[in-house]
Amino acid sequence: MVALVDCNNFYASCERVFQPALMGRPIVVLSNNDGCVIARSNEAKALGVAMGAPWFKVSRRFQALGVQVFSSNYALYGDLSRRVMQVLARFSPRLEVYSIDECFLDLSSWRGDRTALGAEIVHTVQQWTGLPVSVGLAPTKTLAKVANRMAKAGHGAGGAVLDWTQWPAQRETLAALPVEDVWGVSTRWGARLRQMGIATALALAEANPTRLRKVFSVVLERTARELAGQSCLPLELVPPSQRQIMVSRSFGQRLTQREELEAALTAFAMRAGEKLRRQRLRTRVVSVFVHTSPFDRAASHYANAATLVLEHPTRDSGRLVRSALQGLGRIFRPGLAYQRAGVLLPDLAPEQVEQGVLFSSAPGDNARSDRLMDCLDALNRSPARRAVGYASELQGHAWRMRQRHKSPASLSNWHDLPIVHAR
Ligand SMILES: [Mg+2]
Repeated sequence: MVALVDCNNFYASCERVFQPALMGRPIVVLSNNDGCVIARSNEAKALGVAMGAPWFKVSRRFQALGVQVFSSNYALYGDLSRRVMQVLARFSPRLEVYSIDECFLDLSSWRGDRTALGAEIVHTVQQWTGLPVSVGLAPTKTLAKVANRMAKAGHGAGGAVLDWTQWPAQRETLAALPVEDVWGVSTRWGARLRQMGIATALALAEANPTRLRKVFSVVLERTARELAGQSCLPLELVPPSQRQIMVSRSFGQRLTQREELEAALTAFAMRAGEKLRRQRLRTRVVSVFVHTSPFDRAASHYANAATLVLEHPTRDSGRLVRSALQGLGRIFRPGLAYQRAGVLLPDLAPEQVEQGVLFSSAPGDNARSDRLMDCLDALNRSPARRAVGYASELQGHAWRMRQRHKSPASLSNWHDLPIVHAR
């Protein structure tokens, strides 16, 4: 048995944790640079706010209806996510954190009442983190997804828990579920399945698995078998190690000066270095890219990248920054309005592996560099408030994101701690 625990309207619910006055009120959360709607509370959905709607087009109408708007606050969401997963780990030692707000739990060794356990999970997460979750219980991950969906729609016990094995309307539910809404079925596959007369989850569950493997792939065959109740997708208890690291942003405004781009790339290279060290990896290649917006009509579109291969794999932010700025020197063209840039580390190796280089001129990372990086990471532990950086980052701030409606980083910045007044 598997449980899928999914936070309800996660980003919107996070915003409510420290502002309980927002309970029951419509909330939307915007993408980076306050562009589009990326999350909505149930109340906002009911008002007709569309997912992905460009906010500048619809803000006047919905704010008049009382919709509260927030810039995305990933420091807050990431912290709350970690706390939810910590609570869930108490219920089963075997769990797969599937996304920022979803987690599969292995309940195969649980002998008691499953619905009661689900209700206890919902209650505990709510009590300890302030976040509402729904629980879908089923013999396979794909069916747990379906059960969770039904629980969210209010069909479960107490509106939040649904056990598929106890659900009397299994066939009707699968027959009413469009095939492209099944977990793991892409829109492209959905269109082809429909051409073959397979339009619902039920039709997919009853399709010939061997034929599905031949026409599509073994992945879709497994999905179909899982819908029929046969478990084919084990929990991934250990996340697969990362193959590449990318840090990139669209700027809050267009950048024209080289110094401004240098400041942005310095910040990105530092961030990439932190990610590298947290995962105990080194990189041998540093790639930087810049581009203008394809929608700016004034000038022709420019996009370019530069890749530098280092003599020794490194985890040193200083080296990454120098390489990034050197790369920028190759691709920067004056007189253009840059919209986006990024740093990509495409070739990662475990920290302890280092291939020796014959006739090397440049030294690799040494004990001193390692100590310096450990010190840097300790000083910059909180991403919300950086203590130490590289000076080239100070050459400009225009690249920073527009976040006009951002809530405080209540969990990761001392200055943003909520204050409680008692009388
Ligand atoms: Mg969710």
